[in-house]
Amino acid sequence: MRIGMGYDVHRLTEGRKLILGGVDIPYEKGLLGHSDADVLIHAVMDALLGAAGLDDIGKHFPDTDERYRGISSIRLLEYVRELLKAQGLAVGNIDATVIAQRPKMRPYIDQMRKNMADALEIPVENINVKATTEEGLGFTGEGLGIAAQAICLIS
Ligand code: MG
Repeated sequence: MRIGMGYDVHRLTEGRKLILGGVDIPYEKGLLGHSDADVLIHAVMDALLGAAGLDDIGKHFPDTDERYRGISSIRLLEYVRELLKAQGLAVGNIDATVIAQRPKMRPYIDQMRKNMADALEIPVENINVKATTEEGLGFTGEGLGIAAQAICLIS
């Protein structure tokens, strides 16, 4: 068994969609980034790549590469699944936390889990998503950005 962790932050800005766990969440702002800036999936991918000893998403999907402009991070997660598969590695479970002051994540959590489980071809029970605020403190608390953390086991 191997363990991995991932962490990511993206800035909230007007004129962008808010995509988290592959769910398009209605909100006045969205996350800025080269891809769809799905901070949750980015943290999950970094956890998986870390566990596999395969560097990080910055290496596999550089933000200077036009192929990844605006790409759905679900597609990138599928690519990571294939990288792990090629190494004979299977995903055990994943636990992740989205850190955001707003919007409320609860209504979207189950769909996020399903989207990521489908992309990874694992049972939805093996992927957990939580959400928390930071009580108005710091950049997430001030609504300037959203952070995500993830941890996983692979074997
Ligand atoms: Mg990112």
